[in-house]
Amino acid sequence: MSLKVSPLDWIRSCEFHPLSNVQVLNEVHERIRTERTKSSVPPVLLLDLDSTLYEVGSRSYQILREWLASSESAEFPKVRARIERMTRAELGYSLLDTFNHLGLSVMDSEVEAALKASMKFWGRRFFTDDYLAYDEVYPGAPAFVQKAYDLGAEIIYLTGRDEPGMGRGTRSRLLKDQFPFDVDRTQLILKKSFELDDLDHKAKASDYVKTRGNLVASFENEPPNLISFSEIFPEAMHVFVDTVYSDRHAVPKSGLYRITGYESP
Ligand SMILES: [Mg+2]
Repeated sequence: MSLKVSPLDWIRSCEFHPLSNVQVLNEVHERIRTERTKSSVPPVLLLDLDSTLYEVGSRSYQILREWLASSESAEFPKVRARIERMTRAELGYSLLDTFNHLGLSVMDSEVEAALKASMKFWGRRFFTDDYLAYDEVYPGAPAFVQKAYDLGAEIIYLTGRDEPGMGRGTRSRLLKDQFPFDVDRTQLILKKSFELDDLDHKAKASDYVKTRGNLVASFENEPPNLISFSEIFPEAMHVFVDTVYSDRHAVPKSGLYRITGYESP
């Protein structure tokens, strides 16, 4: 039976290995070390970017602040007044979530129009190279990936970002943040165009990953993507990075791993 549940129920229903962040990350390194001794072909570590290696809320927050300062928000005084007082912590996964957190109900016509206008403003900026400058790398993530690389893994960054809109900014951030990149055994796979579906894109990229070597682990914050990888690569570790996630449904599964960050606990 295919059981469809909300993301929060999905987290509760999955029987994750009862390990701390550090224990999960050490296990990944240990498996790379072991694989390396068994084969001359480098084992593969597969990493998502948004909300897996990078905190992207600050990108949205910056865009919302710019919307406030622009003439495009001028006709929504009530909404502006509330957003001006908001803190970074009040930012939700989507602008609709954020409006809800702020007590701005879309049943109100000004709020509804403001949400539409701000989403349009946000959509023209969020998926662009220049705004990647506002992302924040999760503490400890570059060191974790660097160690995996040093132990002999091939690092594949697999992202739903698109090459035309975000390729340049993505490469520049990976280098700036000192992730292993632009050297042998590192690759970045982006969508060829914005319109492609993220899940399809990642599932198709898995065929390519199979040609590279044994997958040791995948890291993902979106449950459907993680489940898809776990079906395609049953032998590998699949690590749910429990940060933020969309409301796309996924089937609960046992045997997955979970971390809340790249540092202790
Ligand atoms: Mg992601």
